[in-house]
Amino acid sequence: MENAVKKIAILTSGGDCPGMNPCIRAAVRTAVARGLEIYGVYDGLQGLIDDRFEKLKGTFASGLSSLGGTVLGTARSAEFMTPEGRAKAAENVRRRGVEALVIMGGDGSFRGGSALCQEQGIHFAGLPCTIDNDMYGTDYTIGFNTALDTIVEAVDKVRDTARSHHRLFFVETMGRYSGALAVSAAVATGADAVLIPETKTDLPALAEKIKKSFARAHKSFIVIVAEGDEAGNAITIEKKVRELSGVEGRVCVLGHVQRGGSPCAFDRILASVLGLRAVEALCEGKKNIFLGVQDEKVTITPIEEIIGKKKPFRKNFLEVADVLCT
Ligand code: ATP
Repeated sequence: MENAVKKIAILTSGGDCPGMNPCIRAAVRTAVARGLEIYGVYDGLQGLIDDRFEKLKGTFASGLSSLGGTVLGTARSAEFMTPEGRAKAAENVRRRGVEALVIMGGDGSFRGGSALCQEQGIHFAGLPCTIDNDMYGTDYTIGFNTALDTIVEAVDKVRDTARSHHRLFFVETMGRYSGALAVSAAVATGADAVLIPETKTDLPALAEKIKKSFARAHKSFIVIVAEGDEAGNAITIEKKVRELSGVEGRVCVLGHVQRGGSPCAFDRILASVLGLRAVEALCEGKKNIFLGVQDEKVTITPIEEIIGKKKPFRKNFLEVADVLCT
């Protein structure tokens, strides 16, 4: 069957995450196998405006499976938020005869892609690249499992020193609006408490639990705090808990290390499958779509059904944490 498109461009946008590179690799390899012309656009949606396109050969994909970050670079672009910025971007896309884009990013990047489509008629396939795992329409986002492994490794190390000094620790994970990383890490590391944006935080109850725990000569106590918890960040929460419990804690903010590193096997496979299917779907003539994985199957959803929707929090998993982290 003839391909519905002949020239496509790929870009990574928003926050970087481990798995973007194997996703790029898969898109390039599939495009070459299908006989498409493929361009890489540097630094996300801003690169469309600044005309930073490069025609890619199959060799561009070499060595990308295990590489963290994104070789195409990424950016947040204020200019792309304006119709004028998007018009400039569209002009650069059209001048090259590019017919469709593959956008690897988060919700914001897909809003940008949608605006470009509505105003300029350029369509795209969106791939879920964010460590937060909070995207509607997919069970997993690319990057989540690698970031989780990084957090688990760090918390295990913190536990060693906490046990040795009989200390209370607050470990802050990423997750401004999502507790997925924090809860999963809490279950995996056997943390003693977890605080997330999706649930109410009861600091007096936590302080009581910590006091009782140390009174029973508990060797250590680890609280995992998602950065967006309603009670504050790890630093402010440590202070409040200290005032309530009289127990001094140490704070470890994991920060950007959670975004880096070689993607784990799960993320490499997810990125490879979704990157391949995105290019195939464009070849089949599908327009403005989001690709995810649900119940172990690749699913393709119209992008308008994804944007602005929040994935329901996995309550059953939270119940596991509630029982085990007490
Ligand atoms: P992450 O989940 O890592 O934050 P993201 O894709 O959601 O990734 P954003 O910073 O929200 O990251 O969005 C990336 C870019 O998409 C923005 O810098 C902007 O250029 C564009 N964008 C976001 N929202 C819109 C919008 N409503 N209209 C046009 N462009 C948008």
